[in-house]
Amino acid sequence: MDAVVPRPLTASVLALLASVALGGCVGELLTEEEATVRTFACAVLDETDARPVLLGLHRERGVQRVPVGALGALADHLADAGFAARDRYAVVESTLLEEPGPWTPEVLQAWAQEAVVLDAEAVRLHVLWVDDFADGEGTTVLHVAPGVVAVSETAVQEGAERLGRSEDFLARVLLYHVVGHALGAVNQGIPLNGTDPTSQEGMPGHESSPESVMHHGWERVTTLPRTDAPYDAYSGDVLDDWRAAVAPTGVCA
Ligand SMILES: [Zn+2]
Repeated sequence: MDAVVPRPLTASVLALLASVALGGCVGELLTEEEATVRTFACAVLDETDARPVLLGLHRERGVQRVPVGALGALADHLADAGFAARDRYAVVESTLLEEPGPWTPEVLQAWAQEAVVLDAEAVRLHVLWVDDFADGEGTTVLHVAPGVVAVSETAVQEGAERLGRSEDFLARVLLYHVVGHALGAVNQGIPLNGTDPTSQEGMPGHESSPESVMHHGWERVTTLPRTDAPYDAYSGDVLDDWRAAVAPTGVCA
């Protein structure tokens, strides 16, 4: 990968990998922007934003899965869809979460408040890969805060067994789904593009098309359907919403 990354970007990314690994202390020296779902999504998707997008994985101690391949596929997908050059995205290898569970909403929110998402140097997506959430209700993924998402490894394992699909498959689907929300889909910061939103929106925040990775409520393992859909891309409608947002007249302008 180094061979295709311009040297200044490589240096910048390496410096920021260090800052992520150190818990964001470099971020304290830089001006942070207010992070909202919309500002985060715009920063990731707008090709005129020159900052690197760091896709960082934070793994709870004892959790073995390191789905950096899924994060790489996500970066490929966004680049292929024309949002930014592929070398703007860098996958940050797994770091261990210092905080212990149980992962209640309050603990997750506290973690997110300490995380640097947007500053002058970079845009950061933080993916927390935890053993399980504390609610005992089968919560699968959570969009915790702008730029911060969390996935339950236990839910990945249980969901894969329920569906008869591989754990790697389900891990990628859950990641795409929750990152879709982090990028403001569906109608959660990036508005629906079209005159008839009801034609696109299914249950609140989700798409009506059953083929879309944003259709089912992947937030609950008990709602996962048995299906052969590949879920390896965002729907055309979601891509159109994002393109409209970063267009010169869009909400990101
Ligand atoms: Zn959802």
